Amino acid sequence: MKAPRLSYRRARSLEEALDALAEHGDEAKLLAGGQSLVPALNMRLLEPRLLVDINSLAALGGIEERAGGLRIGALARHSEVGRSPLVAGLAPLIHQAIPSIAHPAIRNRGTFGGSLAHADPAAELPACAVALDGTVELVGAGGRRRLAARDFFRGLYETALGPDEILAAVEIPPPPPGARSVFLELARRRGDYALAGLAAQASAGALRLVFFGVGAKPVEAVAAAAELGAGDWLRRLPAAEAALDADLDPPDDLQADGRTKRHLARVLLGRAVRALVAAA
Ligand SMILES: Cc1cc2nc3c(=O)[nH]c(=O)nc-3n(C[C@H](O)[C@H](O)[C@H](O)COP(=O)(O)OP(=O)(O)OC[C@H]3O[C@@H](n4cnc5c(N)ncnc54)[C@H](O)[C@@H]3O)c2cc1C
Repeated sequence: MKAPRLSYRRARSLEEALDALAEHGDEAKLLAGGQSLVPALNMRLLEPRLLVDINSLAALGGIEERAGGLRIGALARHSEVGRSPLVAGLAPLIHQAIPSIAHPAIRNRGTFGGSLAHADPAAELPACAVALDGTVELVGAGGRRRLAARDFFRGLYETALGPDEILAAVEIPPPPPGARSVFLELARRRGDYALAGLAAQASAGALRLVFFGVGAKPVEAVAAAAELGAGDWLRRLPAAEAALDADLDPPDDLQADGRTKRHLARVLLGRAVRALVAAA
């Protein structure tokens, strides 16, 4: 199938992009890397009247260190993020996750902000942003607002983005003392969307386990993390695996049924805990 008839506008400034959104509302769609939007247009899952291309907006690009943490511009391509020494040093979880996103051609175009805004429940970067306690910066006609990544994801392909807002950047705080992270994903083939995945960060004071591909949005396994507590993680692992039942209720999808996903999540938890213990 082919995309519906639509108009195209290349925004030359953030203001111009915001004006177009304000003027056209739901009938306009932002175009970033196009790696999710264009297939959705071709399949007629979306029928906007106008595409607003934000690729020329330098204000949305770049990867910078800020106060010991990271600021990743919405237009940073997956491949650029994967090559960045800043990301490898300050957010190794994201560095580990990037090779699991699709294939090089898609990573060369797809953007960090596009992945978060699209909010596919099986996508890697939303889970990483939550596991790292990230913050998203949204800009609209009324100004800028910042939101914890865990509050940004609302449901299946649903976020807190208003129709007239643009996701400008994602901020990742400095690594906490003793930070170590593990990224794991099970997929049918390398590059496929995950059947189930886990983005985990442990530090001296906290353990954050965020699963993806097993719910409508990234799912923080708080019961399993509490079960592991501060004690001997390997000894407590069976109890934590059992506690996952309270955290996860994976729906069936085209890739696997919920029972299989629940089993895969337990497998991932065991692997992650062993890796985190080994890295301590
Ligand atoms: C074959 C294939 C396999 C893939 N496999 C994976 C995978 O394994 N894991 C994975 O995570 N992704 C995968 N993707 C998707 C890819 O990562 C996309 O790049 C990403 O989901 C969307 O980023 P984009 O820049 O291409 O956004 P676009 O496709 O341009 O936009 C996606 C949506 O986000 C909105 N949007 C984009 N940028 C912004 C912004 N700054 N502010 C507000 N709204 C915005 C758009 O309006 C649109 O609704 C795959 C894609 C393909 C085609």
